[in-house]
Amino acid sequence: MSPIPTSSPNLAALAKPLLGQSLAELTDWVQQQGHPPYRGKQLHEWLYQKGVRSLSEISVFPKHWRTELAEVEIGRSTIHHRAPAPDGTVKFLLRLSDGQIIETVGIPSYSAPHTLSRLTVCVSSQVGCPMACDFCATGKGGFLRNLATHEIVDQVLTVQEDFQQRVSNIVFMGMGEPLLNTDNVLAAIRCLNQDVGIGQRTITLSTVGIPGHIRRLAEHQLQVTLAVSLHASNQNLREQLIPSARRYSLEDLLNECREYVQITGRRVTFEYILLAGLNDCPEHAIELANHLRGFQSHVNLIPYNPIQEVDYKRPNSRRIQAFVDALKAHHIAVSVRRSRGLQADAACGQLRASAIPQGAGSGR
Ligand code: SAH
Repeated sequence: MSPIPTSSPNLAALAKPLLGQSLAELTDWVQQQGHPPYRGKQLHEWLYQKGVRSLSEISVFPKHWRTELAEVEIGRSTIHHRAPAPDGTVKFLLRLSDGQIIETVGIPSYSAPHTLSRLTVCVSSQVGCPMACDFCATGKGGFLRNLATHEIVDQVLTVQEDFQQRVSNIVFMGMGEPLLNTDNVLAAIRCLNQDVGIGQRTITLSTVGIPGHIRRLAEHQLQVTLAVSLHASNQNLREQLIPSARRYSLEDLLNECREYVQITGRRVTFEYILLAGLNDCPEHAIELANHLRGFQSHVNLIPYNPIQEVDYKRPNSRRIQAFVDALKAHHIAVSVRRSRGLQADAACGQLRASAIPQGAGSGR
């Protein structure tokens, strides 16, 4: 990269926003402007720990430099709308620099009243999603573009600021298919881990599976948890629910997951949405168990969260329990995901920015 001149108009036209850059990159950047390396460390701290939205807020920088830096784009979004649900979950609509709106959800867990034990952020990786899964609201809205690295990191900082609590867990379960945006997602994971300080093991990447991409991810040897949206116990059923399954057989997907376990030594989570009368019979559980026998994995059942566009039904609790019991009887590790944020349309699969008219935000 050629040196960046010190005059402010050029500073404003940075090739990439500062957010998402490592300590080494930020140090290079300050040095290119004739400042000593320790300014890079200060910039890093103010960006990632103090969460400044303008470099002019960095009070440890010399005044004249701060004035010049005021125009530099950090890469933060603005909150377009904030929708809290009674269970403490908060859904945010964030406005990006090109005016696009994405959704992010902050999900607090409490060990006792008023004692926050965990703060999870459900992040988006794309504006919309091209996968068009039949039960998913995002999929109904089509696809616009990939998110840049800084737009992913920003979501976590925004939730952290809003809750005034450190984020402990991240799930890539918002809008989009992360493995169609692997480079930016991996760069964001690096930043969230090394710069923001969130442990890799508390980061989960959820994918519907893109041929060859799970293997590619494995080669990065990350410690993040891979969650694969299986949702069906056989190829036919999977194709009914997930259009992209037509080009990716269940067998190929499971083989790639086996390779992931071999390469990384990490077990895989299989997500399985429960749709009443469709894929929730004990026979489906047995079929699923047969696929997963001897596989270092865990099944996470997601009772369907209703969306407007389709009339699937969520099974009742007796039926959910029967599915759990059938899996357990076949020695499959299983858990049921508790729906959070349902009243704010913030539960898994319900995210869709167009549900809230533009301009209807709280204006924060
Ligand atoms: N594209 C990624 C991330 C999507 S959202 C993926 O497919 O995994 C995260 C999870 O929510 C996925 O397992 C997705 O299938 C699930 N989901 C989508 N719509 C849902 C709905 N209406 N009810 C419950 N879960 C849903």
